[in-house]
Amino acid sequence: MPLSRILGSITVTALTDGEGPFFQPRAEAFPGATAAHWHEADRREPGSVTADGGWWLPFRAFALRVGDGPVTLVDAGIGPAGSPAASWAPVPGRLPAELAAAGIDPADVHTVVLTHLHSDHIGWAVTGTPGRPYFRNAAYLLQRSELAAVESINPGLPAGLIAPLRATGQLRLVDGDTALTPGVRLLPTPGHTPGHQSVLLDTGDERVLFTGDLLVHVVQLVDPDLAYAHEADPATARHSRTTLLDQLAGTPTLLATPHLTHPFTPHPLPTPPSSTPRSPRPPPRRPDADQHRPAPKRPAPLIAPRPTDRASPRVIAPRPR
Ligand SMILES: [Zn+2]
Repeated sequence: MPLSRILGSITVTALTDGEGPFFQPRAEAFPGATAAHWHEADRREPGSVTADGGWWLPFRAFALRVGDGPVTLVDAGIGPAGSPAASWAPVPGRLPAELAAAGIDPADVHTVVLTHLHSDHIGWAVTGTPGRPYFRNAAYLLQRSELAAVESINPGLPAGLIAPLRATGQLRLVDGDTALTPGVRLLPTPGHTPGHQSVLLDTGDERVLFTGDLLVHVVQLVDPDLAYAHEADPATARHSRTTLLDQLAGTPTLLATPHLTHPFTPHPLPTPPSSTPRSPRPPPRRPDADQHRPAPKRPAPLIAPRPTDRASPRVIAPRPR
């Protein structure tokens, strides 16, 4: 049964398209991670490590719905058997059954945000032969900079994904920070791919960041500086990750992630009970305990211009034990 979070009148539902072992040893996927990083990551998410030390990961999309109105989907999963992800993903996807279990008719999906064009995020966007948009009533939102890089990301996508979306007039390109609806913004978070984007839901009382692959493993919350081997531009990806996580850290935020063990992860991570923080800080509050906090003033843009150099060391360092 899909797991949901209710924020006022908004329901956010995690839809698991599949799960299984990653094809590559995790030490290769995160070459900078130390034994201390893995120790802390495995303590936080024991479900992310297999018996033989591999990486076990889910593949998720998320649905946002106000009341019983139109649905916004963030990402489109692995896709059916034979989809582009089939060459490496552990299983074919089961998103249609997950949508049904969540009470969502694909015809009610009016917006599909594609965080990026990797094959485990676009699987159900276009299906069949010839390919047709699976969500026939939806606008598919993609950053223009991601489309510009489509050939380098996957040379099969112009014909297999983009052309069918264009043929039905369902592709909508966005440029940078874009308000989608009141309280929902698309935030450019480049690096994992050139035009990667995340989605921020801010009700004034509570926030959910749909990360996409801004981070793909809890080890990158233990230490957001850690690069993932399949990032197109690791330095830019690191900057997007650390900047956005730093900027969100002042207000408790739920991270809705495709690949972490838990679909909703509090940010900042709760302080481990067995360790002593280096400096005092207030205990994290659960967003749903914050109903009466006044709405914050609109902060500065979440992604600031990229500095030429990162001068200061990371604040969120793993705590050796
Ligand atoms: Zn992914």
